[in-house]
Amino acid sequence: MEKYDAIIIGGGNAGLAGAIALARSRRKVLVVDEGNPRNAVSAHAHNVLGHEGISPHELLELGRKEARDYGVEFASTRIQSLGGSFEEGFAVSTESSQWQAARILLATGLTDTLPEIPGLRKAWGTSALHCPYCHGWEVRDQRIAILGVSEMSTHQALLFGQLSGTVTYVNHAPQSLTSENRALLAAVEIEIVDAQVTDIAVSDEGQVQSLALDNGSTLDAQAVVVASQMKANASLFLQLGGHLSQNPMGEFISVNEMGATSVPGVYAAGNASNLGAMIGLATAAGTMAGAAINADLVMESAKKKLAKK
Ligand SMILES: Cc1cc2nc3c(=O)[nH]c(=O)nc-3n(C[C@H](O)[C@H](O)[C@H](O)COP(=O)(O)OP(=O)(O)OC[C@H]3O[C@@H](n4cnc5c(N)ncnc54)[C@H](O)[C@@H]3O)c2cc1C
Repeated sequence: MEKYDAIIIGGGNAGLAGAIALARSRRKVLVVDEGNPRNAVSAHAHNVLGHEGISPHELLELGRKEARDYGVEFASTRIQSLGGSFEEGFAVSTESSQWQAARILLATGLTDTLPEIPGLRKAWGTSALHCPYCHGWEVRDQRIAILGVSEMSTHQALLFGQLSGTVTYVNHAPQSLTSENRALLAAVEIEIVDAQVTDIAVSDEGQVQSLALDNGSTLDAQAVVVASQMKANASLFLQLGGHLSQNPMGEFISVNEMGATSVPGVYAAGNASNLGAMIGLATAAGTMAGAAINADLVMESAKKKLAKK
C-alpha cells in the first residue's frame, strides 16, 4: 500500500494550499478530490486578491498546476472511509483503492442546504445569494428580496441594505424574526413583508424575476438572499470518533489556530472547520495546516532520532 507523509482529502482552495505548503517542504503528498467545490455553481469568484472575478474552476486549475509542479499527486475519487490512528498511521480508502498516511488534512468543504422553495436551487450562485462579499457588489442598487429563514437573515438584510436602497425582508419563517430584529430592520427602512414564498420565477440563465407569496401577491426582485443551513462534510472525521461543533451558521469541525482537530494527527481547514471562510481565508487556513503538519512531522522525526541516541 502506497504510504504518504500526508493525505489531503478535498482539493478545493484549502486542500490545494495545504498540499503546496507540504510539497514545498519536500513532503510526499496525495490530494484525493471528488471535484465538487462549493462555489462551482458560480461563474465568478470575487474578493480573491490578484484574481478578482476569476472563474472558480480556473482558480482551482491554477492551484492544481502549482501543486503538481511541486510533485503533489492527485486521485480523482471520493474517499469512503478513514481509519487508523496517529500511532499506527491512517488508512484512507475508496471502494477500490487504499493508501496510508502519517497525517490527514480534511479539506472537504461544507454542504449548503437550502429551503425547499421551487426555483431557489436553479438561481443558487447566480442570483440566489448568501454572501454580500462574494456577490453583493454585483447586485448593488437592484431589487433584493431577503428570504427570512433563520437568525442569520436579519444580518444579511442589514449587509445587503448597505448595497441597495430597495431591500425587502420576506418573513418566510416568522419564528426567526425577533421583535428586536424587526425594530432594527424598520430603523434602517428595510420593508418587512409577512408572508411565505411559494415559488420563485427564474429565467433559464438563473436570473430571479419575482417571488410568489402565499398572500396571493407577487414581489418583483432581481436577487434573492438566503441563509443556507451549513454543515461541514465531516463523515470521515466522525468515523475517527470526532465530534462536530455548532454555531448559528451550522455544524463544523473545531480546530486550533494551526488547524489541528481534537483527533491526534488529523487537521482540518477551509469550510470544513470555518463555515464563514471565503476563498482567501480557506486558502490561508490550508497553508497554515500544511505548515503545521510539516512542523509536526519534523518534530516527531527529531524526537525519534534523539531517542535512538
Ligand atoms: C454560491 C457560492 C459562491 C461563492 N462565491 C465566493 C466568492 O465569490 N468569493 C469567495 O471568496 N468565496 C466564495 N464562496 C465561498 C467559497 O466557495 C469557499 O470559501 C471555498 O469553496 C472553500 O474552500 P474549501 O477548500 O474549504 O472547500 P471546497 O471548495 O468546497 O472544496 C472541497 C472539496 O472537497 C471535496 N470532497 C468533499 N468530501 C470528499 C471526500 N469524501 N472525498 C474526496 N473529496 C471530497 C469536494 O468535492 C470539493 O472538491 C462562495 C460560496 C458559494 C456557496
